[in-house]
Amino acid sequence: MRTVPGRTDRVVVVGAGLAGLATALHLRGAGREVTVVERGPGPGGRAGRIERDGYALDTGPSVFTGPEIVADTLAAVGEKLEERLTLLPLETTYRAQFADGSHLDVHADPDAFATEVAQLCGAAEADAVRRYLADLAVLYRLQLGTFIDRNLDSPLDLLGPELVALARHGGFGRLSSHVGKFFADDRLRRLFSFQALYAGVSPYRAVAAYAVIAQLDIGAGVWHPVGGIAAVPRALAAAAVDAGVRFRYGTTVEELETSGRRVSAVRIDGGERLPADAVVVTTDQPWRMVPGLRGPRRPVYSPSCVALHLGVRDELPGQEHHTISFGAAWEGVFDELTRDGRPMTDPSLLVSMPSHTDRSLVPDPVDGRRCQVLSIVAPTPNLDRRSGGNPDLDWTTLGPRYRDEVLGTLEDRGWTGLTGAIEVEEMATPLDWAAQGMAAGTPFALAHTFGQTGPFRPSTLPRRGPENVVLAGSSVQPGVGVPMVLLSGRLAAERITGPVPR
Ligand SMILES: Cc1cc2nc3c(=O)[nH]c(=O)nc-3n(C[C@H](O)[C@H](O)[C@H](O)COP(=O)(O)OP(=O)(O)OC[C@H]3O[C@@H](n4cnc5c(N)ncnc54)[C@H](O)[C@@H]3O)c2cc1C
Repeated sequence: MRTVPGRTDRVVVVGAGLAGLATALHLRGAGREVTVVERGPGPGGRAGRIERDGYALDTGPSVFTGPEIVADTLAAVGEKLEERLTLLPLETTYRAQFADGSHLDVHADPDAFATEVAQLCGAAEADAVRRYLADLAVLYRLQLGTFIDRNLDSPLDLLGPELVALARHGGFGRLSSHVGKFFADDRLRRLFSFQALYAGVSPYRAVAAYAVIAQLDIGAGVWHPVGGIAAVPRALAAAAVDAGVRFRYGTTVEELETSGRRVSAVRIDGGERLPADAVVVTTDQPWRMVPGLRGPRRPVYSPSCVALHLGVRDELPGQEHHTISFGAAWEGVFDELTRDGRPMTDPSLLVSMPSHTDRSLVPDPVDGRRCQVLSIVAPTPNLDRRSGGNPDLDWTTLGPRYRDEVLGTLEDRGWTGLTGAIEVEEMATPLDWAAQGMAAGTPFALAHTFGQTGPFRPSTLPRRGPENVVLAGSSVQPGVGVPMVLLSGRLAAERITGPVPR
């Protein structure tokens, strides 16, 4: 593994999102002097938070997986997860609601899940679920060590028995056909392949290796951090402060100053220079900040989303913490999102209602009427035509109409009374993501196409540009999502400290 040569005592980390926080903790744990510079008023980045009228709305991730990775991040400075965060395991990982009116509760307990599947789809499909989950766990283990939790300098790094085993497991076929081999019931096929969208690809085009995303949620379970997902970056930042990391919030990095082949200082707004022996950039498209560095030549970006965050004065009885509300359309949905550049005509939506589990997120009842907070994520095309998106969609006018359509769809699918009960509301469209500097107006960065995964995704230590600049975050290896960007922080730190035994 290549590492930064020369002195690396003082490190400046750009960005206090989850990747920047993980980087800072690992570096501080290895004895570096670390300063984190963040343009926002606090930590979290995309894992953001709005507090209004007693409602606490998480504006980023809602499905929290991989707590062992957060534990490992805190352990870098000798901290224990349970002393910083309370994580509640969700008994019901998802409720999958189908267009035919049926629903399936995915339970973290495999036996309870198989029983549900047997009741809805028959005993043969329940057996298939057991076999599939066992297979997923093996696939995940193979991939974690091979190309997820590992810095890769070249595709040759992958060669080895794990790669052969992965190929033997069918990891390089199409995800849709891999899932199709296990399940006859279309509902289960959807349940085990919609996660490809988290990776920015259609299951009809994704390689089967992406099946492992379902290991992170359906296989290993989903947790709720008490206080909401924003409690995670806050806990990491607090641990970092206690360990001696310095934070400069409300401070924008304007330029990396070079001297020869190295960056010598980070210039922040107001003109101050922060001298640095090494710099870790965790922003979206980090290459744009680094002199002499270019991004991927023909980037393909993930679809984007409209995210609608609501505080409502209604109990919304009978709903679960996470619901995947499937429309009748399926293959066509992915064509609309990743090829035709059209919003979904028959949308599949992720609806999260964390107040189902955590009443600290909502105001007290008034006249006995309880409140809920909801996040609705509706995948949309991004703004880049080459990625199958559409720069001509005018989200300023389309946004409010689309919001009404999504709420109307949910009312039709059983969320009766939702629209009329809204007290607090916040919406983000691809235009908002673009305004925050995210490429192609998507918060999900480069898609995990084959050519942008593993050794083919931008490296944490680029070969071009200054020799002491390291990259982390969702634009680089290993990829997008809370567990992946936390891992990218660890990988970035190892580019500075050298490998740390697992
Ligand atoms: C609506 C939505 C839903 C999601 N759902 C899920 C989910 O359910 N599960 C999941 O695992 N993941 C989910 N994700 C993805 C996940 O949130 C991201 O992959 C992850 O948070 C990205 O972290 P990061 O540290 O790489 O980037 P960021 O959080 O973007 O951090 C980069 C930081 O750099 C700062 N910055 C930028 N430019 C400068 C500058 N010039 N100077 C100083 N600071 C700067 C930014 O302010 C930001 O804080 C979701 C994301 C969104 C938006």
